[in-house]
Amino acid sequence: MNTQVAIIGAGPSGLLLGQLLHKAGIHTVILERQPPEYVLGRIRAGVLEQGTVDLLREAGVADRMDREGLVHEGVELLVAGRRQRLDLKGLTGGKTVMVYGQTEVTRDLMQARDASGAPIIYSASNVQLHELKGERPYVTFEKDGKAHRLECDYIAGCDGFHGVSRKSIPAGVLKEYERVYPFGWLGMLSDTPPVNHELIYAHHPRGFSLCSQRSQTRSRYYLQVPLDERVEDWSDERFWNELKARLPEDVAQQLVTGPALEKSIAPLRSLVVEPMQYGHLFLVGDAAHIVPPTGAKGLNLAASDVNYLYRILVKVYREGRIDLLQQYSPLALRRVWKGERFSWFMTQLLHDFGEHKDAWDQKMQEADREYFLTSPAGLVNIAENYVGLPYEEVA
Ligand SMILES: Cc1cc2nc3c(=O)[nH]c(=O)nc-3n(C[C@H](O)[C@H](O)[C@H](O)COP(=O)(O)OP(=O)(O)OC[C@H]3O[C@@H](n4cnc5c(N)ncnc54)[C@H](O)[C@@H]3O)c2cc1C
Repeated sequence: MNTQVAIIGAGPSGLLLGQLLHKAGIHTVILERQPPEYVLGRIRAGVLEQGTVDLLREAGVADRMDREGLVHEGVELLVAGRRQRLDLKGLTGGKTVMVYGQTEVTRDLMQARDASGAPIIYSASNVQLHELKGERPYVTFEKDGKAHRLECDYIAGCDGFHGVSRKSIPAGVLKEYERVYPFGWLGMLSDTPPVNHELIYAHHPRGFSLCSQRSQTRSRYYLQVPLDERVEDWSDERFWNELKARLPEDVAQQLVTGPALEKSIAPLRSLVVEPMQYGHLFLVGDAAHIVPPTGAKGLNLAASDVNYLYRILVKVYREGRIDLLQQYSPLALRRVWKGERFSWFMTQLLHDFGEHKDAWDQKMQEADREYFLTSPAGLVNIAENYVGLPYEEVA
């Protein structure tokens, strides 16, 4: 089997890169470890930056998003008993975000892949990458008990944090930067109308909570919980009661409760590896970096990497600009680090760190909240990062 670009992983990064390259006439094969139902069953991100929305439109997969997605012009912040709306549109000269679930983005991309006829191999096991530094890299894998070999020019490692791509780079090449947080997020999805038409980020002495949504009838709520918390110990009733306790009375009274469709706990961490390229292998999305979800950046940073790698590969194939391949890692990382900074900052600002912060750090956290939420410059700072910083040109 031969292709120009072998893509490992059919999450949002792999599928979006595959779709953009297919539209540009570049042949790809996507190898995914899981069956499609499993990929679609993962409940994850839901807030798309303007840049991600534009890229999905460019990929030709935005019809349903443009029909069903909810454009949000602001978010609410509840801090120190104050309820404050962050006017994203007003503070950023007209930029907004789109509320449209990662599951839906993935579904649209999978359908586009099927319609294009471009190859995608689900349930591919034992994927291994070879000759990454050589002129002809290749990928081996098994499907239905048979061994296969895929020859290619380049490999895009879009296989998430637990994937094989990053692990295929020899020890000592990558530098890893990591920050773990002493808490996780307990998330609940329910078919109930959202408590508010915009997202609410709430700081509270009992811990942070987020009132998010996927549509006008489907809500996603999160509670900050200790790392040793077990999801089995959270009945629906306990979840709703705790959420109400962390919200102001008027908001809590409007909360419509109902049975959980899904509940899960995700630990919060920040991680970046540098560089994002090794020979003919390019790491994309969660394969190279993880953010805590507080800034709604995980999926958006994956799209940002795809944007750069796609534009570079198009110039490589159309104009012979192989010099640009070296630009991928520095270009992508410049934006990744800003997304990491914002995600870290929002996590610091809004969570309760308890005994994990000393008295000085707690005072700094309070001063940050006071400054960023009352100063016009502070509000612009949060808003411009939330809607997403611009992409650099690939030239
Ligand atoms: C529980 C959870 C909740 C999240 N919530 C949010 C949120 O609220 N907001 C936000 O912005 N972000 C959130 N994120 C982050 C966001 O979902 C990710 O940033 C995004 O999925 C990254 O996309 P990706 O395609 O790079 O990686 P993934 O979505 O991880 O996709 C990688 C794909 O590669 C496949 N794969 C792995 N190993 C192999 C292999 N060896 N061979 C072949 N295929 C392989 C996987 O099966 C998977 O389909 C969350 C993440 C998690 C885990």
